[in-house]
Amino acid sequence: MFYFDNFHGKKILKSSLLSNYDCFFTTRDFVLTPAQREDLTLIAENNMNLLKSELNTSQIITAKQTHSDNIKVFTGNNFYNDDTDALISNTENSVIMLNYADCVPVILYSKKDNAGAVIHAGWRGTSKKITEKTLIKMGNELNIKAENITALIGPAIGKCCFETDEDVFNQLADEKCSKVFYNKLNNKYFIDLKLLNANQLERNGVENIDICEYCTCCMSDIFFSYRKEKGITARHSAIIKIKGDKICQ
Ligand SMILES: [Zn+2]
Repeated sequence: MFYFDNFHGKKILKSSLLSNYDCFFTTRDFVLTPAQREDLTLIAENNMNLLKSELNTSQIITAKQTHSDNIKVFTGNNFYNDDTDALISNTENSVIMLNYADCVPVILYSKKDNAGAVIHAGWRGTSKKITEKTLIKMGNELNIKAENITALIGPAIGKCCFETDEDVFNQLADEKCSKVFYNKLNNKYFIDLKLLNANQLERNGVENIDICEYCTCCMSDIFFSYRKEKGITARHSAIIKIKGDKICQ
């Protein structure tokens, strides 16, 4: 279950599945990435300083997001990653952040391994199966089992507002989703990207998944929405800090 909380006076969104972790989605109230909203640059800088200070970190792992399926594992010094849309880390106390305005934020975390990932999945990333590929890479490179993963599918544009033409639908149609993930109305398709990303995890053995019901386009008073604001918008962020103490099993 998702719930609003506050981070040192700033409104954030958390999930009960990872409530004891430094793991959250920011809102308009806690902008860290101004993007097209240059007027928010100073506010974002101040917020970033607050984030780093309260999470006790001097550098944050992030990326130049390009709607790719490129996935990087943090190796100790690649804090900034070009042309990347998913980041994985098992480095104690490292902090990962990616940014969104309607695209789907996915956070994966293994409490057993203290390893996590943050994924940026718009419709292109979803069609390239970036969420599934990130889960598989965590297994192959860090030996993390799907059964130990907790997954959060954060706030993103919902089926109510993600209206597309047939070309986009066709690129998502081979997702082999057993559930109904779209409505068709007057030759337009309304697609549930959050459900498709959850499905990529479920079919690979992840059971512990929390899906946020909030639509960023309907709730553009709280979140940034590229579609609602016609491209002139900032970004909210998905953030996780990797814990230090491993649970012995
Ligand atoms: Zn909506």
